Amino acid sequence: MEILKNYIDGAWTPSTSKETIDIVNPATQEILAKVPYGKGTQKDIDLAVASASKAYQEWSKVPVLKRVQVLYRLKSLMEENTEVLAEIITKESGKTYGESVGEIQRAIENIEVACGTPMLMAGDVIEDIATGIDEMMIRQPIGVAACITPFNFPSMIVFWFLPYAIATGNAFVVKPSEKVPMTMMKIFEFIDQLDIPKGLVSLVHGGKDSVDAILEHPTIKAVSFVGSTPVARYIYSKGTANGKRVQAQGGAKNPVVILPDADIEMSTRIIADSVYGCAGQRCLAASTIITVDDQKRQIKDALYETVKSRTTGYGLDREVNMGPVITPESKARITGLIQKGIDEGAKILLDGRNASIAGYEKGNFLNPTILENVALDKELIRTEIFGPVMSLISMKNIDDALKFVNSGNYGNMACLFTGSGANARRFRNEADAGNIGINIGVAAPMAQFPFSGWKDSFFGDLHGQGKHAIEFFTQTKVIIERWPNIWSRKF
Ligand code: NAD
Repeated sequence: MEILKNYIDGAWTPSTSKETIDIVNPATQEILAKVPYGKGTQKDIDLAVASASKAYQEWSKVPVLKRVQVLYRLKSLMEENTEVLAEIITKESGKTYGESVGEIQRAIENIEVACGTPMLMAGDVIEDIATGIDEMMIRQPIGVAACITPFNFPSMIVFWFLPYAIATGNAFVVKPSEKVPMTMMKIFEFIDQLDIPKGLVSLVHGGKDSVDAILEHPTIKAVSFVGSTPVARYIYSKGTANGKRVQAQGGAKNPVVILPDADIEMSTRIIADSVYGCAGQRCLAASTIITVDDQKRQIKDALYETVKSRTTGYGLDREVNMGPVITPESKARITGLIQKGIDEGAKILLDGRNASIAGYEKGNFLNPTILENVALDKELIRTEIFGPVMSLISMKNIDDALKFVNSGNYGNMACLFTGSGANARRFRNEADAGNIGINIGVAAPMAQFPFSGWKDSFFGDLHGQGKHAIEFFTQTKVIIERWPNIWSRKF
């Protein structure tokens, strides 16, 4: 069985760790390969950073217009290889082929936006800020940066950071999720073809040990993390305590409010896609659906009909709407949470726990589940399920709905379905979440905009993507300049 190699100093390199874990296809339980794991991976980080540090010295002096040329090449390689990449994503993460193609597109869009770095990283100048004195602010790269990513978007999330980091002149280390590292292996075959210094971009596998090595390495100046909230909190506190710049995106529990004047057919279709897309394993998946006032019955029936018709199966079968969840442990956790909801008083409207897919009986499949009247004062209503489960509750009016939305610990996304501009305006202004959708089910910011989590969904200041990423990967320097009188204007 193949043991995945790291990509360090511009070469495929076996890990110094002898320990491995299996990478498993969640639909078939087939072992796809083994990935290095354990204490030994800390040495791999040291090797990657030593090489990155040298590469940074050379790369940071390359003019920015030249630096972005490698991004154009990377974009072409990703586009030419979308099908093969999508197949790998589906095999290791379980999502449908269409969903895999979609996330590659989102990755490519980030490359495209980072190609604007020659303009985006420009500074400011004020001439004669005092008589005969000029002042300017320039942006310089910070050195070596690293990212640590989750299992649910094996390609896209790395690209919220990587293209911006290298376009602004930094070296970059990628530590992908140990559950889905094969997508990055393929992408690093493309990176291997780029005209960049050896070691500028490296791939190091592992779990907590390699993460700790990143957080403790004095040469790594910035860390970008995406994953669950407890780990995000840990990364942020340990990384910042070690003097690093950290952006750490965490988990979510996303509420969606449907007002009586919403278009029922459109709303229920979009909401079902949001709750069950990627088998509910999206940080922007709708989780709690709040119907307001008299439409409860109608919406409940419409949602039930829409959801019932969704097909679950192996993501490589093109007609399937929903794949398996990532691991048997994850499936057990989700079924346990459904039971918890029932024990806390919810009624189960659609029970997806006994899914069995012909030909894939060993897969981690769950069918769509709907829980109704989930208790507002119990645990499940606040717990991230990260699976294909909708919690349906109702409120008297938009005031109560907003109060509920704002009482949650997370703040990744909040959505409203309505035909009223006034209510939409109020919601976008008052809802405590960083990404707001109005008649949108997955309010995922495009690459030009920051991926704006709030509260327990984000720790840090600058988010991934767009201008925030440019700022995150650069440090400002202000220069105040005076020259002898002969060159200064005289007044
Ligand atoms: P996870 O937190 O288990 O793992 C994420 C990364 O952290 C992996 O690379 C893993 O190796 C590492 N890691 C895991 N445990 C660690 C520990 N104890 N110490 C140090 N490093 C550790 O997350 P996951 O299960 O891969 O992903 C799902 C979670 O990610 C969900 O909570 C989801 O909401 C969240 N997520 C958030 C966003 C966002 O933009 N806010 C996007 C995608 C996923």
